[in-house]
Amino acid sequence: MRSTPTSRTTNGGISFWYADHGTPGPREPLPGDTTADVCVVGGGYTGLWTAYYLKKAAPHLDITVLEAAFCGYGASGRNGGWLYNGIAGRDRYARLHGREAATRLQHAMNDTVTEVVDTAAAEGIDADIHRGGVLEVAYTPAQLTRLRAFHAAETAFGEKDRVLLGARDTAARVKVAGAVGSTWTPHGARLHPAKLVTGLADTVEALGVTIHESTPVTEIAPRRARTPYGTVRAPYVLRCTEGFTPNLKGQKRSWLPMNSSMIVTDPVPAHLWETIGWDGRENLGDMAHAYMYAQRTADDRIALGGRGVPYRFGSRTDNDGRTQPATVAALRAVLTRFFPTLAGTGIAHAWSGVLGVPRDWCATVTLDRSTGLGWAGGYVGSGVATANLAARTLRDLLLQDSGQGTATALTTLPWVGHRVRKWEPEPFRWLGVQTLYAAYREADRRELTARTATTHPIATLANRIAGR
Ligand SMILES: Cc1cc2nc3c(=O)[nH]c(=O)nc-3n(C[C@H](O)[C@H](O)[C@H](O)COP(=O)(O)OP(=O)(O)OC[C@H]3O[C@@H](n4cnc5c(N)ncnc54)[C@H](O)[C@@H]3O)c2cc1C
Repeated sequence: MRSTPTSRTTNGGISFWYADHGTPGPREPLPGDTTADVCVVGGGYTGLWTAYYLKKAAPHLDITVLEAAFCGYGASGRNGGWLYNGIAGRDRYARLHGREAATRLQHAMNDTVTEVVDTAAAEGIDADIHRGGVLEVAYTPAQLTRLRAFHAAETAFGEKDRVLLGARDTAARVKVAGAVGSTWTPHGARLHPAKLVTGLADTVEALGVTIHESTPVTEIAPRRARTPYGTVRAPYVLRCTEGFTPNLKGQKRSWLPMNSSMIVTDPVPAHLWETIGWDGRENLGDMAHAYMYAQRTADDRIALGGRGVPYRFGSRTDNDGRTQPATVAALRAVLTRFFPTLAGTGIAHAWSGVLGVPRDWCATVTLDRSTGLGWAGGYVGSGVATANLAARTLRDLLLQDSGQGTATALTTLPWVGHRVRKWEPEPFRWLGVQTLYAAYREADRRELTARTATTHPIATLANRIAGR
């Protein structure tokens, strides 16, 4: 008899990754007013990598991290574990700053995948990292057209080691039902998000960085971060709160908190893996407009994510990762469309999180020299690697500004100092995002049944209106 897939599914609880790895023990909140050389707000990948690289480069710096919940509570402890070389906004940066500058950004991202893998190994952080690359599949004629264009674009940005695969070679890697082609790049690795972020927090603390948890910052101003327990005064205050940024005073309409949701299956038995393949444990994605992303976990489950309900009115965030039953059902439908033999496999856990989306969908990293305020984010769902590049860039900007360093290859990348306009007020923000994703889903549905090899005009129009 087939199991009922959602009857015993855990929903929320931050994410499956913590159910698997355990939630870390709490660190003490801020005990009162204090000072530091650098105050980092937010203990996700961006904040922790920044603290890590700063402390490594300048051990004398007194660095304090303030985290509202616990390190890794946000997207860094909930994501799909795709460490890969994609960066939001590259094509716009090419239009704004020229192709050479955008190509340097892309190369920096390629190097970042290796940097994360090597640094985790050097610091003894075991995050189940497996360097299997990224496989993105097409299963409609329109997706195949986009796949070929995507492959050509990435190759033109210098990714000579990316390959285009036909249906048979795709199936030799992963047997996705109906797949007509794919593109594979070596610039990607699968990882366990919570193991990386908790390992990073421990590493940073061991280096001498002070971390205060359960300490929400209510206001960031030049040279201070205010919390209910006291104020940290520092020449540099770095905002590393990505999708949670709208909760901060004065930031309501900056980066939009977009939801992404995930499900994870029970461990898949060996006889079913024979029907799927996936021995290379590539990060797996598709070319749909409302795309999916997946990984084969170290303990042989499938963790699969997608958009679901894209956005909550008023930039609200979820309650400890709980997601809507309709989203769980939609993700399960994707799973069984990809792998029909998993129709009877149970869904162990479902959860969601928020990622930061700027109005122009471009990731940024900035240090304002006049105020000492810095920030990085707006990664639009590609933050696992990008946060590391942002952190090394913040380090270089800060060391340069404080006279302890000079301009580097990173401080001159085109995403540094980029400014973007605010999102529209409600209800236009909510209406816009709901309409956008309704359009993407409709375009995906029509492309599935249509025989035409062109992107459905609804999606083209949606992209144009969204300003992507
Ligand atoms: C479900 C999901 C799947 C994803 N999958 C992928 C993927 O596979 N690959 C990929 O590249 N990217 C993925 N992403 C995006 C990626 O996880 C994020 O871009 C990245 O983790 C952002 O890191 P961060 O440190 O900037 O933000 P976060 O990890 O969100 O950390 C921000 C931290 O700030 C804290 N905070 C918030 N407000 C305050 C405050 N006022 N005071 C103090 N602390 C505060 C939060 O508690 C949180 O811990 C995914 C995101 C989600 C939600």
